[in-house]
Amino acid sequence: MPRSIKRIKVTMALIIMWMFTACSATTVHKQDTSIKVEAAPKIESTSLRYPPFPTKPYERTNIDKSLPGVPVLMYHHLLESKENKKFRGNAAVITPEQFGVEMKVLHDNSYRVISLNTLEQYVQGKVKLPSRSVVITFDDGYLSNFKYAAPILRQYHYKATIFLMTGPMQQKTETFNPDKLNHVSWSELANYSDVFDYQAHAHNFHRLIGKTSWFIAKPLPAVENDIHKVKELTHAIYFAYPFGQYNPDTISLLKKEGFRMAFTTRKGRVYPGSPIFELPRNGVFPYTTLNQFKKIIGLNSHKSSVKHGAHSPVL
Ligand SMILES: [Zn+2]
Repeated sequence: MPRSIKRIKVTMALIIMWMFTACSATTVHKQDTSIKVEAAPKIESTSLRYPPFPTKPYERTNIDKSLPGVPVLMYHHLLESKENKKFRGNAAVITPEQFGVEMKVLHDNSYRVISLNTLEQYVQGKVKLPSRSVVITFDDGYLSNFKYAAPILRQYHYKATIFLMTGPMQQKTETFNPDKLNHVSWSELANYSDVFDYQAHAHNFHRLIGKTSWFIAKPLPAVENDIHKVKELTHAIYFAYPFGQYNPDTISLLKKEGFRMAFTTRKGRVYPGSPIFELPRNGVFPYTTLNQFKKIIGLNSHKSSVKHGAHSPVL
């Protein structure tokens, strides 16, 4: 029937037009978001724009993967949804609600949050840990960690580590402004030492040339100077590589400055025998779903809930 064929043709044309409109609308929206993010003060997140380098550890070690291993969580900045205008779409910014839900999942499933000191001993094979152990870390040292993460961590009696970049830190605390990137201040560190342990991220070298970290791109004496400065200011013994980028020279410099352990942004778990200057971490981002979070901490599968279920004889 010619009339019904015509009607089908018209309908199909309308569908195709709608699809194009929808696609271009999405593209425009994406472009808008990226422009806004570029205009905002820069959070040097470990989003996919800056892939970890190298993709595999340099050091080859024997890792006993029969154990469950320990996931190390990596967070950055927190903002309430309504106050997040400048950083919308930035992978480094999550809401306090999301963080609260994730901490509740740890609590409700009897996770033990361990310190970096305990993790170090675990890597060295000096201590054994329950299968549900986890480490919580924050990179960069944003004031939002004190404002939003500290009360939630206190609620569950959890402790976390902040890897500080000391260059932007001021003596006195700034007024919290969600449109800016406020850093924690020297004067307030002690007030939060019941919740946070402070370690090193960089002094002024938390920067990029293109997609390459200054820790890789700059001459070695300059890199050494930056590591020395952050060590001097924090007395830290643990380090997190900015953008997850490092090379054998960076590792040597950290050892020379008395660091004992360092973290990348490669995903994975920490095991006894893991390369101690190249430990993996797991970023938690605004797009990380609760199921993905559960998978990171080893709580994802139906299998695991059966395995740990109250009525199951299998442990
Ligand atoms: Zn960073």
